[in-house]
Amino acid sequence: MSQRTFSIIKPDAVKKGHAGAILAEIEKAGFKIVSIKKVSISKAQAEGFYYVHKERPFFGELTEFMSSGPIFPMVLEKDNAIADLRKLMGATNPAQAEEGTIRKKFAASIGENAIHGSDAEETAAFEIGYFFAGYELK
Ligand code: ATP
Ligand code: MG
Repeated sequence: MSQRTFSIIKPDAVKKGHAGAILAEIEKAGFKIVSIKKVSISKAQAEGFYYVHKERPFFGELTEFMSSGPIFPMVLEKDNAIADLRKLMGATNPAQAEEGTIRKKFAASIGENAIHGSDAEETAAFEIGYFFAGYELK
């Protein structure tokens, strides 16, 4: 059944000029881009997005990084979108990511790993609402 997920092309990939190549991979894999925009977020906005990780030792580093430059938040749609995007992204640590995955191709480290993807339906709903208003999601 058609499902929506939320993704972000992270600041490292945008800075390196990989946003277009990553979008091409996403479209080639059969995702429809429902909505996309280029924004820069503050550290406080990054903290709100990643609040589930607030007790983790890397929280400061993560939110500093996510507010370090422009990002492309987007809403994607296809059958089984949440799991399929996670598979296309590859492991969190690019050193462990499978050949052909976005993180294998474009990520430098576990911290600067090119792309975010929602991990469950409830997180996708929260994350889509964090970045997009209803009128942007037709
Ligand atoms: P994402 O949520 O961004 O899609 P993920 O679900 O693969 O990634 P999480 O465990 O949710 O991984 O971690 C969120 C993000 O925090 C990671 O994508 C990465 O950028 C950062 N992160 C995770 N573990 C570490 C770590 N050990 N050191 C530095 N940054 C980390
Ligand atoms: Mg995650």
